[in-house]
Amino acid sequence: MNYKSTRDSSISVTSAQAISRGISADGGLFVPASMPWLSYNDIKTLADLDYVSRAANILGRFLTDFTSNEILDCVSKAYTREKFETESIAPLYMMDPSTYMLELWHGPTCAFKDMALQLLPHLLGHSVEKCGEDKTVVILVATSGDTGKAALEGFKDVTGTKIIVFYPKQGVSPMQRLQMATQQGDNVGVFSIEGNFDAAQSGVKETFANKEINETLGKNGMMFSSANSINWGRLVPQIVYYISAYADLLKNDKVSCGEFINVVVPTGNFGNILAAYYAKKMGIPIGKLICASNANNVLTEFLRTGYYDRVRPFYTTISPSMDILISSNLERLIYDLSGCDDEKIRGYMDSLAKEGTYEVDDSIKNTLGEYFWAGCCDDEGTMQTIKDIYERNSYVSDPHTAVALNVLKQYRDKTSDTSKTIIASTASPFKFAGDVLYAIKGERNNDEAQMLEELAKLAITHPPKQISNLFNLPVRFEASCEKDKMKDVILNSLGI
Ligand SMILES: *Cc1c(COP(=O)(O)O)cnc(C)c1O
Repeated sequence: MNYKSTRDSSISVTSAQAISRGISADGGLFVPASMPWLSYNDIKTLADLDYVSRAANILGRFLTDFTSNEILDCVSKAYTREKFETESIAPLYMMDPSTYMLELWHGPTCAFKDMALQLLPHLLGHSVEKCGEDKTVVILVATSGDTGKAALEGFKDVTGTKIIVFYPKQGVSPMQRLQMATQQGDNVGVFSIEGNFDAAQSGVKETFANKEINETLGKNGMMFSSANSINWGRLVPQIVYYISAYADLLKNDKVSCGEFINVVVPTGNFGNILAAYYAKKMGIPIGKLICASNANNVLTEFLRTGYYDRVRPFYTTISPSMDILISSNLERLIYDLSGCDDEKIRGYMDSLAKEGTYEVDDSIKNTLGEYFWAGCCDDEGTMQTIKDIYERNSYVSDPHTAVALNVLKQYRDKTSDTSKTIIASTASPFKFAGDVLYAIKGERNNDEAQMLEELAKLAITHPPKQISNLFNLPVRFEASCEKDKMKDVILNSLGI
């Protein structure tokens, strides 16, 4: 299986090249040249396997230049019982016989990004080696919170890699700061940046493009790479859990073979819902893909009208990982829906860069409407849903997942579709304990440790140890730096 670029269909690279390059030189994203097909028998076979074996089976269909031993090495290092709280890795929780929560947050950082970022470092290690490189890979990350911690945990002590994370001093929650400041591992570095997320992000981008620092790294046997969500190596692990969820429904007789289900995904950069779209294309019986947004509802408008308009106010919400106005992975979807028309995609992306808008043609619009349904809700709606779901189902949901539940209710109210539905539950409520408690009880509490205990009582469970243990870990990283000192900080931290 080879990969082409969304901006140049004539490009053909192996999966190892796609993963180690991250992005195509023409600015496009790598996509598989064809989709592997799963027959009913294949799906039934997967139902009898555990998560690691399901992942190995599915990855093997996409990463055909990897040996099966290499793939097994990657997945069995990523999805271990030490790293994930549950044997099933991505369990399904039944809210009622037609509503299932796909809990993607039982990993080391309690957010769904672990599902991809536990695996990516191993895929990247093998990919770089296959491409004939023997340099140490230095990962630079700018984070607004969740991604940085998930990347640190993923790359921690992985041979042949180092990772340095920059987060905005004024932009992360106290819990997120604590998660990063106490990071363990010998190959990690964490710095706060004076400024907001954009300052951190543009600093990292400038460093990637800086010739001088790249040469210095090269002379010292190192090279930069990135772990951001446009890397194919982050998308492919996400396809696995949708297939795995259907296999679980089948195994537990919750669906009959071939029965169509819907999937709801709280969406930001469009990576998670795109993975569900790919699962559908591979033959998993998925009816509607329901895209849920918060007040930053650029995708709701796009999926309803075909008009993408990033020129709008930016809202800071209680579901911060969805506060995004440019959803990078959407490019992969419209490339596919255009019939791989690279010229058309170049035109749309050019217009997005220059005007901040583009409008897809009628044929793409019609297909969007056939596959997707989109809705959004603001913070007030999110809080109301957290409260309602707690009172009705005794289920404690984090704010991102609550956006999805709110939009699912809108969908069910507006259509007569009674299909069974999977909701991608993307974070543990304990990660956002303050807002979740406030939504349920109407009171604020400022003591982080106390909040965890209080929430645990409501949820009738223990706080995840990955979070409650943070208070006992030594703080290792407190340094902050000015954006224009980033280069020195990096070289210093690499010891060169
Ligand atoms: C990143 C994130 C999202 C958004 O996922 P995308 O793949 O960017 O659409 C939703 N919820 C949580 C908790 C996240 O961390």
